[in-house]
Amino acid sequence: MTQILDGKAIAARLRADIAAEVPRLGFTPGLAVVLVGEDPASQVYVSSKGKATIEVGFRSIEHKLPATTSEAELLALVTKLNGNPDVDGILVQLPLPAHINADRVIAAIDPDKDVDGFHPINAGRLATGLPGLVPCTPRGSVKLLQEWKRDLSGLHAVVVGRSNIVGKPVAQLLLQANCTVTIAHSKTRDLAALCRTADVLVAAIGRPEALGREHVKEGAAVIDVGINRITGPDGKNRLVGDVAYAEVAPMTAAITPVPGGVGPMTIACLLENTLIAAKRRRAL
Ligand code: NDP
Repeated sequence: MTQILDGKAIAARLRADIAAEVPRLGFTPGLAVVLVGEDPASQVYVSSKGKATIEVGFRSIEHKLPATTSEAELLALVTKLNGNPDVDGILVQLPLPAHINADRVIAAIDPDKDVDGFHPINAGRLATGLPGLVPCTPRGSVKLLQEWKRDLSGLHAVVVGRSNIVGKPVAQLLLQANCTVTIAHSKTRDLAALCRTADVLVAAIGRPEALGREHVKEGAAVIDVGINRITGPDGKNRLVGDVAYAEVAPMTAAITPVPGGVGPMTIACLLENTLIAAKRRRAL
């Protein structure tokens, strides 16, 4: 029987655990979210993050800046937030307008407040096994996988996608969990044959339903990170993952649905990162 990895329920449990810890801390963790411009998807993400932050009992600090904000102005705000003792976590919502260099902005965030885990210092800490802040979506993906099997030791994991925000950090986390890890990408030869060797298949491609039955070994666990908006035959918009769920799910031991799989875990892990950052700054 296929185990459906219910990200909504597991994320709710994680948020409840965080909320239960807040009153015992003796201080209120603060998360600052910075939004530049009016990208509709980003506005939705920022408002969901703010709501979830308040729900667990943290302080939510929102900075909404116009699309005309210069890079220097944004860097000045980041510097101010770095120095603000009430701010434990800083998240600059991506994508940024084209005239702002996102890498420079990420590099300006204090790595110990970098709750997105995108700072090169945190990427380096993850790669070398030092304590740091781990990107939220990869962390959520591996937490879901461990609902299927706590001990992933010795399993062959194939991660399709090598972005800095998903593919590479997922691969690092799976390596830490003692998987044998292969990273695939757009230049990989015979992707289907490679994927069929995977006990754990992670799809982080950004192409609707790109992986089908021919990519999956019977009894594998499949984590679908993809979120793609498509127009169905009825003309209505809907979200699909990078995996053709209906045909693949029956072959798997466990699979994440889209929506309701990895997506909800991302915000829950952001809150968890804020709590980790807040405690570390106070040496708790
Ligand atoms: P990127 O576009 O940065 O990376 C996509 C990766 O997929 C690249 O490494 C690319 O290879 C690879 N790829 C593209 N086409 C193929 C192909 N035909 N065969 C094999 N590999 C291919 O995307 P992200 O990593 O940012 O995001 C991936 C997906 O995850 C997206 O759907 C995104 O919406 C979703 N996402 C979901 C989140 C959540 O909260 N659940 C959060 C973040 C992202 P190459 O490097 O060679 O170009």
